[in-house]
Amino acid sequence: FRVRAVDAGPDARGAKRLLLTFTDITQARLTERMRVDFIANASHELRTPLATLAGFIETLQGPAAEDEAARHRFLDIMGREAGRMSRLIDDLLSLSRIELDKYVRPQGAIDLEPLFTDVAKTLAMRLDADERQLIVAPHADLPPVIADRDQILQVLHNLVSNALKYGHSGTAIVLGAERLPAVAGRDAAVRVTVQDQGEGIAPEHLPRLTERFYRVDTSRSRKMGGTGLGLAIVKHIIERHRGQFELSSRQGEGTRVSFTLPEAGGRREVAEG
Ligand code: ADP
Repeated sequence: FRVRAVDAGPDARGAKRLLLTFTDITQARLTERMRVDFIANASHELRTPLATLAGFIETLQGPAAEDEAARHRFLDIMGREAGRMSRLIDDLLSLSRIELDKYVRPQGAIDLEPLFTDVAKTLAMRLDADERQLIVAPHADLPPVIADRDQILQVLHNLVSNALKYGHSGTAIVLGAERLPAVAGRDAAVRVTVQDQGEGIAPEHLPRLTERFYRVDTSRSRKMGGTGLGLAIVKHIIERHRGQFELSSRQGEGTRVSFTLPEAGGRREVAEG
């Protein structure tokens, strides 16, 4: 609390009066602290690949310029680092766009199955390279949902990418979806699940995974091309859709991430009863 004392002049009997105001500054401080931390983290994340790039430019301006093999290798690394900076900037822009509006404006109903197919196509090369199979197995008769198509595509992309990055080579990733009928206190929804067989996550990390830049193993995440923002973006998008996001994991076995989206017409169904 911040306390301010103001002289309020004498009372009717001439005694000195003080006016005390108490302001709760904890929340404001915390928000400010988070903003400062975020900028520091983002700058650090951008500076790392930039330093690598600067180092290799210097090397290539020196003796390495004559060495064909070294030049190829260095340019390869520089390309990867530039890619990392570009992904990071894309993720930072996504986050700020998503944070601008608290909720998704009502849109038309969308079908999820075409999005599942899109994600499978986009990630096909990476899946093949790691001998992975993406099993798309939604329940039959999945109802449409109220959602922003591009944002849900990004959620699916981030979750399947994580399953790819942290799952074991040669295993399958299962992308499922089911309808959750309306019950008292909850409208009808669709639950989408991404399940991998992989290293899993120790329980103490679970509550912090959706924080920006939080990683279980930073160097591993970097090596896999991660930005540390994927799950923060997912959580924001799902909250904006008034959906629920859940993550459960068994160390050494795998991870299961699920989210819900409101069924199109699900509310009316409840009202009609
Ligand atoms: P990153 O870009 O580092 O993957 P995310 O925000 O997507 O960032 O995930 C945060 C961290 O959560 C990851 O660095 C990783 O440690 C952990 N994680 C996310 N998904 C999985 C998964 N499917 N299996 C194991 N660990 C995961």
